[in-house]
Amino acid sequence: MINDLLNKRTKIVATISDKNCEPDFLRQLFEAGMDVVRVNSAHLDPEGAIKIISNARSVSDKISVILDTKGPEIRTTICDEPLKFLKGQSVKIAGHSDEKTTLQVINVNYRDIAMFVPTGVYILIDDGELEIKITEKDGDILVGRIENDGVLGSRKTVNIPQVRINLPSVSERDLTFIDLAVKLDVEFIAHSFVRSKEDVLAVQKLLDSHDSKIKIIAKIENQQGVDNLEEIMDNCYAIMVARGDLAIEVPFERIPGIQRAIIGKCIEKRKPVIVATQMLHSMITNPRPTRAEVSDVANAVYSQTDAVMLSGETAAGKYPLESVRTMTKIACEIEGEKDQYIEMPAGSLSGEVSAYLAKVAVKTSIRINARTILADTVNGTAIRNMAAFRGIKPIVALCYSYRTMRELSLSYGVIPVYMEKKQSVDEFIRVSLRDLLSKHDLNDNDIIVVLAGNFSRAAGFSFIEVGTVEYLKERVRISESDLMA
Ligand code: PEP
Repeated sequence: MINDLLNKRTKIVATISDKNCEPDFLRQLFEAGMDVVRVNSAHLDPEGAIKIISNARSVSDKISVILDTKGPEIRTTICDEPLKFLKGQSVKIAGHSDEKTTLQVINVNYRDIAMFVPTGVYILIDDGELEIKITEKDGDILVGRIENDGVLGSRKTVNIPQVRINLPSVSERDLTFIDLAVKLDVEFIAHSFVRSKEDVLAVQKLLDSHDSKIKIIAKIENQQGVDNLEEIMDNCYAIMVARGDLAIEVPFERIPGIQRAIIGKCIEKRKPVIVATQMLHSMITNPRPTRAEVSDVANAVYSQTDAVMLSGETAAGKYPLESVRTMTKIACEIEGEKDQYIEMPAGSLSGEVSAYLAKVAVKTSIRINARTILADTVNGTAIRNMAAFRGIKPIVALCYSYRTMRELSLSYGVIPVYMEKKQSVDEFIRVSLRDLLSKHDLNDNDIIVVLAGNFSRAAGFSFIEVGTVEYLKERVRISESDLMA
């Protein structure tokens, strides 16, 4: 019986590397509560990505895959060996992307860097490990002062907070990986450094040109992304609060407030939302989380995020399995602590009638202490609409396509299940209830709220029925011998 799956409502995204992606390992993570595999193209070649994705697919058809692009970002060029910079030292910064970085000149992969960076600003390299204050400009070369002792390796990230740089939405490398994502038919592309709707639309245009159904997750990781959140949300499927870069691009003390505001807006707009980065960072090297990390995961769950994410913890850490188990434990504990229901308008994402029935179903399930909501869906929209209320009862979503089933693995409180298309409402209840009874430990007097749609169109819900397992079994004629079969 997979009864415990009727418990965890917050989804877990785990970043996986090609160095550690064997099916047995991924199966263990899946059984511990991982719902989604994230493949970070910034650290992989295409072969590595193919390996991770095919291994994930071999473990379960329920695991969805996010391919994360590099997006419009600036990086230093390679250097022959790690370079030791000292506080107070002067250094040049140039955009000669085919030249190496040395102690005298830090080269980056963006030719026009000097055009956009004024004197007086700070450049942060390698997630802020090295800080440089720009003191002069000499033609197309910037001159700066090193602000702290630090070591610089090859191809490190370059952040220039508060400065708007006109980088293209999609890099050459991204094009390769977006093509690959289409070929491998992954569920999601998480696009990095989304600054405005144009960045999302550029990726969408590429996907449309391939007739791809891949959904876009916009990573919010700089001030422009925060400022343009509304228009970005209107054009993407989901949002990731990418706190790694965000905490460099904006003052870090603002991150908790930004995180909370983004989650709130996403719930309101029915967009899945992921909180990412350093959630259990110390578990890269330690078997137990710090108290602060436990509180960080709990805080995201209290804010009712759809998903929390692991990065280095599962991609390169010593304790990947323990990290997933730790997240599952914290999520289940916090979810059980309070009535999470959010009172808000029914919405109209999937049509007025459907949206209203979904809201009634969630409220009913809480009021009468139902065991679960059972609903069917063609493209998942009506289910996402319902998930936004954050009702405490799990939504078992019967999906008529594998893609919809996997997309819903990112939505709060939804247990997606694949089902072949059925002809009538009674037949839907019959097949789904039989499936539920065979997998979960339900009693005859457990109450189930059933929501179903008009079977000829993808028009959302048109029908709601509430009854005990015993009543529903009788009504749709499920016999004991049916259950044994
Ligand atoms: C982040 O910056 O928080 C993030 C998720 O992106 P990446 O891991 O690609 O840096």
